[in-house]
Amino acid sequence: MQFGATPLTPAEESLRAEVRGFLAAELPAGHRPALGFAGRYDPDFSRRLAARGWVGMAIPPEYGGHGRSAVERFVVAEELLAAGAPIGAHFVADRQTGPTLLHFGTEEQRRRFLPGIAAGEIYFSLGMSEPDSGSDLASVRTRATRVDGGWSVTGTKVWTSEAHRNHYFAVLCRTSPMEEGRKHAGLSQLIVDLRADGVTVSPIPYLDGSHHFNEVALEDVFVADDMVLGEIGSGWQQVTSELAYERSGPDRWLSTFPVLREFVREGAGKAVADDEAAVIGRLAARAWAIRGLSLSVARALDAGQVPVVEAALVKEVGTRFEQDLVEALRGAAETEVDQGTGTLFQQLLAEAVLTSPSYTLRGGTTEILRSVAAKGLA
Ligand SMILES: Cc1cc2nc3c(=O)[nH]c(=O)nc-3n(C[C@H](O)[C@H](O)[C@H](O)COP(=O)(O)OP(=O)(O)OC[C@H]3O[C@@H](n4cnc5c(N)ncnc54)[C@H](O)[C@@H]3O)c2cc1C
Repeated sequence: MQFGATPLTPAEESLRAEVRGFLAAELPAGHRPALGFAGRYDPDFSRRLAARGWVGMAIPPEYGGHGRSAVERFVVAEELLAAGAPIGAHFVADRQTGPTLLHFGTEEQRRRFLPGIAAGEIYFSLGMSEPDSGSDLASVRTRATRVDGGWSVTGTKVWTSEAHRNHYFAVLCRTSPMEEGRKHAGLSQLIVDLRADGVTVSPIPYLDGSHHFNEVALEDVFVADDMVLGEIGSGWQQVTSELAYERSGPDRWLSTFPVLREFVREGAGKAVADDEAAVIGRLAARAWAIRGLSLSVARALDAGQVPVVEAALVKEVGTRFEQDLVEALRGAAETEVDQGTGTLFQQLLAEAVLTSPSYTLRGGTTEILRSVAAKGLA
């Protein structure tokens, strides 16, 4: 496992300044920051960000993107998340579906979807988990059977974030029966229009009543051959490499940072007790160390490496940090957690208490990531 020290270049630092300038103009002082990439969904903001060239940064120009590096994308994502910008509409398509289409999609699919993703106009969900299949994805039971001109898909996906608002999702399904001892074979990914006949999207409300998740039932949904993503039978390898893109970025350690920022802002000018200062110091030091790991994964990606194990470790330490931050501030502030009332800090803290438990589950649980990291060290 390797994490090289990697300072930012002057050009990368000046990109940061540009993004800060944009955000200062876009997000009014005192705005309610989003917590994490999924915290707020705002297609207008996504389109404005895209107009500045900051969506689809890693997509090549011939497909409407900007051919920028993973580190440049890291810098932009870091600023957006630290400011609590509303990036929930485009973020998954930008982080995950775009690179997957680039690696595995047909030329026709790239031309059809990538320009819309880079314009902040086409949004994708992820169709992996099922009621009886989460960590052990190879056990998915959604089935696609061969029909004239394509596939007929039947099954149920669950925890499908934003399926009620997004346009498509990439469905992991079984295209041939599971064979004894070869459970990873026979899986494929199909691109499904979330408004197609036979697709039913039903909400699963969050603890606070908000709507983010869904159950998506598929009943004899027709998917034409040209919507097969990659090779039939290679779904497992594709999904595994896709998960590596989603595990190491600033979205895995900055989700609750706006709570810390607001805590510091509200305390500015007031006397700070020693133990409060120590909490802030410890959190800042930890954030800085994790940032170094995360940035080094982005550099490795730019160098053409495949840092799957390092990415798993970043998500494990990063999401644990996001949760510890909430508990540390809850203790330091000695405040009642009451949603919807109190100062902005108190409101954000209340939101974080309810949503942060999910951070160590989404995108692979902590136990699974530890297992990936441990196997990589063996
Ligand atoms: C906010 C959020 C958004 C999500 N969005 C999406 C989405 O858009 N699309 C999608 O497809 N999914 C999504 N998910 C689902 C997520 O990927 C799964 O919840 C996750 O993979 C875990 O699966 P599970 O819930 O079935 O738990 P299980 O796999 O049943 O695990 C239950 C517990 O057992 C542990 N465990 C399981 N296997 C092992 C093992 N081999 N060794 C040690 N411990 C183990 C796990 O760590 C966990 O603690 C989302 C989840 C959350 C919380």
